[in-house]
Amino acid sequence: VSESGPKLPSKILELMDGFRASKALFVASKLKIFDHLKHRGPLKAVDVSNEVRTSVCGTERLLDACAALGLLEKTPQGYSNTDSANVYLTSDGEYSLHGYIIHSDDHLWPLFTNLESAVKEGSRQNHRAFGKKAEDLFKDYYHSEEVKQRFMAAMHSIAHLTARDVATAFDLSRFKSACDLGGCTGALAHELVQIYPNLKVTVFDLPEVIANTSYFQPSGQHMAPVTFVSGDFFKDNLPEADLYILSRVLHDWPDEKIHVLLSRISAVCKPGCGILLAEMVLDDEKKNRSTALLQSLNMLVQTEGKERSGSEYRSLLEQHGFTNVKIRLTGNLLDVILCAKT
Ligand code: SAM
Repeated sequence: VSESGPKLPSKILELMDGFRASKALFVASKLKIFDHLKHRGPLKAVDVSNEVRTSVCGTERLLDACAALGLLEKTPQGYSNTDSANVYLTSDGEYSLHGYIIHSDDHLWPLFTNLESAVKEGSRQNHRAFGKKAEDLFKDYYHSEEVKQRFMAAMHSIAHLTARDVATAFDLSRFKSACDLGGCTGALAHELVQIYPNLKVTVFDLPEVIANTSYFQPSGQHMAPVTFVSGDFFKDNLPEADLYILSRVLHDWPDEKIHVLLSRISAVCKPGCGILLAEMVLDDEKKNRSTALLQSLNMLVQTEGKERSGSEYRSLLEQHGFTNVKIRLTGNLLDVILCAKT
């Protein structure tokens, strides 16, 4: 400590404020402020508050905070979206994160409120956050149409943002057919058929999800078709394929369940067939990549799973006869691991 006073702990202060900034983003998104400002030129706080039916004084403070956080532009004429707000924050933006933001506010926020209990108990907190105890995470999500739609929109927004990097991390052109297990809305599947026109792609997911996929299909006329099949990957026959894809699936489960799933895939895989994993891959010492380590806390509060390192995934895969395990860090939110059955 010098005579001029302590050095400001900027990093710590930023973290202390982090939840306030997150909540400002969530509320602005929930009020669809970015949708209202899209294509509408600058609007004054009073006009925004009239459109979204909120108080003028509260809206003005929220808009100012969003502008200071770089989400909006503020000029003497009023507030307008930044370019990135148009692309990522409007609900129909090209790479809209609106679905994941709403999921964060409605679902993850109450779960993270119980992080202390999760850390003390080492287990998920759905019962504390939502007052009930379902046997498995996906039963929680799919018990109501509204929660299911919200969850699928959240998965879709991240899958769409990462699909290109996941699909191109390795050259997959040697594969003729792929099955995306737990493939949800088909966002990755649609990217794969664009990049590999000769690849036949099947999305396999629980019946509740498959019943809801039509809402998320791209509208292009020249899109190659993707096939959707419903089933439980722990119990039902898996569709035949040269390549099995597990994107953000293994991180939902403890090792015991992963062994069940990988042994089922191994049993139907012929030599030369592959598995492609898309996950946030931790470094072996688990000390870098705060995004991935925070995602592991996110898994703690709601699942029995966790994020794993490259060596942990390699070991799980090798125990089921999958070798030549290659890992690509994409720089995007999901990394990619490819291996082949020997
Ligand atoms: N792969 C998608 C992605 O990366 O966006 C979705 C990931 S989401 C975290 C996990 C997916 O696994 C959900 O779509 C869920 O419905 C599906 N799933 C969970 N349990 C399943 C089961 N027993 N059989 C088939 N799919 C399952």
